[in-house]
Amino acid sequence: MSSSRRGLLAGSAAMAAGAVAGCALPAGASRAPQTPFTVAQTTVPIVGSEQAFPVRRIYCIGRNYAAHAREMGSDPTREPPFFFQKPADAIQVVMPGTVADHPYPTLTKNYHYEVELVVALAKGGRNIAPADALGLVYGYSLGLDMTRRDLQREMGDQKKPWEIGKSFDHSAPIGPIHPVAKVGHYTDGSIWLKVNGQTKQNATLKHMIWSVAEQISRLSQAFELMPGDIIYSGTPENVGPVVRGDVIEIHIDGLPNLSVRIV
Ligand code: MN
Repeated sequence: MSSSRRGLLAGSAAMAAGAVAGCALPAGASRAPQTPFTVAQTTVPIVGSEQAFPVRRIYCIGRNYAAHAREMGSDPTREPPFFFQKPADAIQVVMPGTVADHPYPTLTKNYHYEVELVVALAKGGRNIAPADALGLVYGYSLGLDMTRRDLQREMGDQKKPWEIGKSFDHSAPIGPIHPVAKVGHYTDGSIWLKVNGQTKQNATLKHMIWSVAEQISRLSQAFELMPGDIIYSGTPENVGPVVRGDVIEIHIDGLPNLSVRIV
């Protein structure tokens, strides 16, 4: 039985019970449904708050820095950036001052880092104008769009979806979220990544093809954005591989660094 059919039947049963009790619920209305088990809500700590940010969807921007687009074999003047998603529970929270163990995933022999600015939304909407887009932002963090590059390329070559290369467990390390009220917006500043202390990626946020405001505006043309959505805003050039034992450290001006050890 499909889940929608099961939902319908459960709804009818609830309405019948309500009718017997003399308090039928209008169609579509329901109390919080009982579930046979609990599915965890992914959250990310908020700096300076007891509250945590609930993650709804993870959107990622592909080829948002010209030099990275070129190293991936495309021409940024002809092909605009684009979107893909990771599941919300791909999040791995990494607290500042710690070096979190990050598991080397199965199936790959070419596991790549991508340092990215992460944008967290407090509001949603459709067809947001670039001038209004930053009004949706709750805060910012930094993160890694970890990638099974060999599988991503293989699937791309076969014109198949990227999921296995991009959207796997733990593929989205992220630091705590800094509310925009405290840190402002990120339009410039340095973004870098080191492996075992050696600089690998080093660029500035100004080199993004789509600014954060443009990313939100473009995304909202394709999807209705909602509170809890986060956006990995793309990586600069010089992505590359890591192996077990390597330590990755990433930095964006104005945010505490984030570090993981590949295990
Ligand atoms: Mn990326």
